[in-house]
Amino acid sequence: AKTAGGGTFCFYSTDMNARSIERLEMAAALRHAVERGELLLHYQPQLSLRTGKLIGAEALVRWLRPGHGLVPPSEFIPLAEELGIIAGIGEWVLREACRQNQAWRAQGLPALTVAVNLSVRQFETQDVVSMAGQALRDSGLPPEALELELTESAVMADAEAFVHSTERLKSLGVTVSLDDFGTGFSSLCHLQRLALDRLKIDQSFVAKAASHPDSAVIAQTIISLGHSLKLAVIAEGVENAEQLELLRDWGCDEIQGYFLSRPVPAKDLALMLAKQGPV
Ligand code: C2E
Ligand code: CA
Ligand code: CA
Ligand code: CA
Repeated sequence: AKTAGGGTFCFYSTDMNARSIERLEMAAALRHAVERGELLLHYQPQLSLRTGKLIGAEALVRWLRPGHGLVPPSEFIPLAEELGIIAGIGEWVLREACRQNQAWRAQGLPALTVAVNLSVRQFETQDVVSMAGQALRDSGLPPEALELELTESAVMADAEAFVHSTERLKSLGVTVSLDDFGTGFSSLCHLQRLALDRLKIDQSFVAKAASHPDSAVIAQTIISLGHSLKLAVIAEGVENAEQLELLRDWGCDEIQGYFLSRPVPAKDLALMLAKQGPV
């Protein structure tokens, strides 16, 4: 028994060591990713169901890690938050998204809003509002062409703190939206006090909208709740025509998802915009 137990322990221990070494290597590499120019943004278009035109694009970060290919954000954003290095990454994303949107405008492409994801950790370590103001000034992008996404769960964890932050963002002139909505147990009272412009229906409800009546009801409820609060409502994760038609019937304002396009490099988004022609 002793041998078997020892053997088993050894096996797991080696396995765990390999994984923790991998993680340490990843952490060490991630610390230099920004300065080494290894981050890049893909953009996923957003469509107005009313006009049928592209109205925005969400910037989604990727890490081109040497020897590992393109690493998705789910594999390094949580690690960056744990390591306390999300601020540098977040600042780079914000500045790059503003620069890129202004570059599209300078090319004469139809005007878009670019949406940037903010980690709640960024609010703890940096003045996000000043940083956004600075990014707008440096890029020359007008504030109304920038949208900032906060997740519902993060905001509701400390709603009181975000009442002030969202007001400051609003006075900057940028759009503020609540991401992954429906997953974070919002209190209606808090929702009303936050200076928001938009709700994003979480993709889990969209995925099941056609097949699960409960999800359909939640999606419809979010749309009417948003409209009662004078907020625009966008659905993300729209993958097929059936979902799009349901959302249209329910009065959803905008959609985003693979049905329209996956997140793509900036040059591909420019092609989509150019094809659409002037608004
Ligand atoms: P999110 O903000 O909820 O972004 C939506 C995610 O859903 C993206 O994954 C997008 O590619 C994916 N998606 C879009 N349409 C569809 C669809 O039709 N079906 C399915 N199944 N998925 C779809 P991605 O790019 O891997 O990003 C994952 C998450 O990483 C984001 O979720 C966001 O929380 C985080 N993230 C991405 N970029 C940044 C960033 O710059 N800063 C921060 N703090 N977080 C980021
Ligand atoms: Ca988002
Ligand atoms: Ca989301
Ligand atoms: Ca999400």
